[in-house]
Amino acid sequence: MVSDPWDAVLERIDDAAKLTGVDPDVHRLLRTPRRMLEVAVPVRMDDGRVEVFTGWRVHHDTTRGPAKGGIRFHPELTAHEVCALAADMTFKTAVAKIPFGGAKGGVRCDPRRLSLAELERVTRRYTLEILPLLGPDKDIPAPDVNTDGRVMAWLMDTLAITQGHDIPGSVTGKPLSLGGTPAHAGATASGVLTCVRASFAALDVPLPGSRAIVQGFGKVGGTLAFLLASAGMRVIAVSDVGGAVYNAGGLDAIDLSDHVSATGSVVGFVGGERIDESDMWGLECELVVPAALSGAITEEVAGRLNAKVMVEAANGPTLPDADPVLERRGVVVVPDILANAGGVTASYFEWAQSRQGYAWDEETVATRLRSSMDDAFTAVWAKADTLSVSLRRGAFALALDRLAEAIEARGLFP
Ligand code: NAD
Repeated sequence: MVSDPWDAVLERIDDAAKLTGVDPDVHRLLRTPRRMLEVAVPVRMDDGRVEVFTGWRVHHDTTRGPAKGGIRFHPELTAHEVCALAADMTFKTAVAKIPFGGAKGGVRCDPRRLSLAELERVTRRYTLEILPLLGPDKDIPAPDVNTDGRVMAWLMDTLAITQGHDIPGSVTGKPLSLGGTPAHAGATASGVLTCVRASFAALDVPLPGSRAIVQGFGKVGGTLAFLLASAGMRVIAVSDVGGAVYNAGGLDAIDLSDHVSATGSVVGFVGGERIDESDMWGLECELVVPAALSGAITEEVAGRLNAKVMVEAANGPTLPDADPVLERRGVVVVPDILANAGGVTASYFEWAQSRQGYAWDEETVATRLRSSMDDAFTAVWAKADTLSVSLRRGAFALALDRLAEAIEARGLFP
């Protein structure tokens, strides 16, 4: 059983290398992150003592463009997880065909235990420590789990202060007031919806009235539940870190969102009944969307899923041992590196606008996002079909072909 996230990524890279017959030199290059910085993040806490957190920034590959990837604050974050997430970004930006490489970063801390002032000091000190890696042509961070536009604003401000001038293209997912792009906040969820629509159409499953379950009710899962309901689906169960709620007739996504804003969790929502998350996985439905953390879909969970399609909104939600189980059970899996690429695509649009100094209107962003996600879905579906493999293996193979072409075009220095 492979439970280390970096080993899991290596397995997928190795598999794609076998499928595509890629040059072994390219394969070897992609098995090692280009650079990895581990930093101490000392912070004066509100009670006067100094806490020392650990942070990382990893560039997995920068052949196709500057390193791009989110920043995560989480108490269980590890170096291997950051490396794995950075590699996923390399493959995701290649699948989405946007001119970026892959990066990820984060701080091992529990933001729920930090005051707002402590959170700001953690962000600013972490930014200072990873400063040599950052810049609009080098590495462009974005929000991830437990980080948001506010954190990005502090990061951008720290860069501006230390460099002596404003650098709006240095970060994406910024607040609109600082040059963020319209639709960025919902871009990941709307890209997931594009994949839901495309996969249901390809499999001839009607969307209206179909049942969905969503794990995670945060920036992605919360928005997605609303989009799925707006598209006519019944969102019958939703879970978050506190537990799960169920309503066979469909949960009201707006009321649920109000409840979460008021209480912090889906638990206790009067429009549904409480169930165990482990029971949620076995519910009969057409769609399941993991939109929380990595590793949620274990071999055991995969063996109980009763869905036609799984669209991976989260990064790395499926453990490698679960993949063959899902294939055997006929669950079509739209992999994370395709399904949640809407976020990084909107980041690309934001970066382009920041560098142009010219804001696109909301409709332009939304139309380009839909078309980019549709193109990526079509390309992955065609590759998987040609190779007679799952969409995940097809997506990695497609990305590897594009990466190999770029790596060969650049050549190796010296
Ligand atoms: P978030 O922090 O806003 O929300 C995470 C949600 O998951 C919360 O509702 C939380 O309660 C829930 N959760 C945490 N642990 C859980 C558990 N053990 N069981 C059930 N629920 C649990 O994060 P987010 O931005 O929505 O990101 C969710 C996933 O999507 C992550 O894997 C992230 O890497 C991925 N992703 C996010 C974006 C983006 O634009 N935010 C883009 C691409 C991928």
